[in-house]
Amino acid sequence: MTGDVTDVDTVIIGGGQAGLSAAYFLARRGSVPWRDHVVLDASPAPGGAWQHVWRSVRLVSPPAYTRLPGLPWSRPFQGPPSGPEVAAYLAEYEKRFAVPVLRPVRVRRVHDAEAAPGAKPHGALLVDTDERTWRARAVINATGTWDRPFVPVVPGMAEFGGRMLHAADYDAPEEFTGAHVVVVGGGNSGAQICAEVSAVTDTTWVTRRPPQLRDASFSEAELVAVTDQVAQRVARGLPLRSVVSYTGIARTPAVRAAEERGALTARPMFQRVTPDGVTWADGTRLRADVILWATGFRPALTHLAPLRLRGPLGGIRLVGTRADHDPRVHLLGYGPSASMISVHRAAARAAREVRAGLS
Ligand code: FAD
Repeated sequence: MTGDVTDVDTVIIGGGQAGLSAAYFLARRGSVPWRDHVVLDASPAPGGAWQHVWRSVRLVSPPAYTRLPGLPWSRPFQGPPSGPEVAAYLAEYEKRFAVPVLRPVRVRRVHDAEAAPGAKPHGALLVDTDERTWRARAVINATGTWDRPFVPVVPGMAEFGGRMLHAADYDAPEEFTGAHVVVVGGGNSGAQICAEVSAVTDTTWVTRRPPQLRDASFSEAELVAVTDQVAQRVARGLPLRSVVSYTGIARTPAVRAAEERGALTARPMFQRVTPDGVTWADGTRLRADVILWATGFRPALTHLAPLRLRGPLGGIRLVGTRADHDPRVHLLGYGPSASMISVHRAAARAAREVRAGLS
């Protein structure tokens, strides 16, 4: 950070689907176009997490509801879009609506301009980046989860002689041909990665709980019901739960094929990592060349730590998208708005409240 401070009404942190939706509504709601905002995005290119996902990832939610406000997909779906296709759509979105994105700009810290111990939040917020500080009256945080892959701590990990990687660093199964791969994680990514890796080499699937697989398609009513359950949790200030605990694992064609091959019989979580594999509590050992942690992500919110948004129940209590503890801060792409379907309405609400608060 340099000594420069630039004033702006609203800083949107993160330029993925959530940040772009917020920018769209901030620029358009009300009778007068209103542009006093900036989007700061740490990624090297447009597309948010979609530019980084592994090769086989597809946007699986129903195409009819899965798009951002104001811009239909430019061509009919030839099947669910891939990561690069979603990223291209988001790049087009930025261009079409002249979204004021600066990248790559990583926000390091958001804090009170006039911090007084114990004082209630009131004045401006300072948003520190490597190249300057922004002073804003409101912050819409839309930083997603991709930047914070989660790996559990398991005894012996440091001594493992093979390769360990998180799903965030995985690309395609061919790189593992001939290796024995232990895939850890009972969510959609664990099932999907194990399904495709098991088609080219030996795998073992390990999950903490017995996996619950379900039909791939969701009705609109089911999606709304899941979103409501997550919203209720967040409104109570409880920590987020994994998506799969609400939805089960989608039985995509590749997952179904792997089940039929017998490749998705899950074993319980091992107790220890050894130099050449893993061991279970009953003494069973398994040799492994690769351990692939498909153990999910956490919200990338460390830069908000100075604002102490987390409440006594361990989560950030939101009223809609607004942080209950600090009305200057909205969280988008968090909890109930963490999908392309649900972010639309949440972004409209965040923009409406931010504008009302600033007028
Ligand atoms: P991201 O797309 O992660 O964008 C956040 C942006 O913020 C990134 O560009 C990042 O660089 C930036 N950033 C992070 N920290 C900072 C910082 N400190 N300062 C500045 N910038 C920062 N949802 C669906 O609706 N349908 C699906 O089919 C679907 N499939 C998914 C498959 C996978 C494998 C994953 C991981 C998610 C999937 N999701 C799906 C969920 C969700 O839609 C995506 O994760 C989506 O990318 C979230 O958008 P976002 O804008 O909230 O966050």
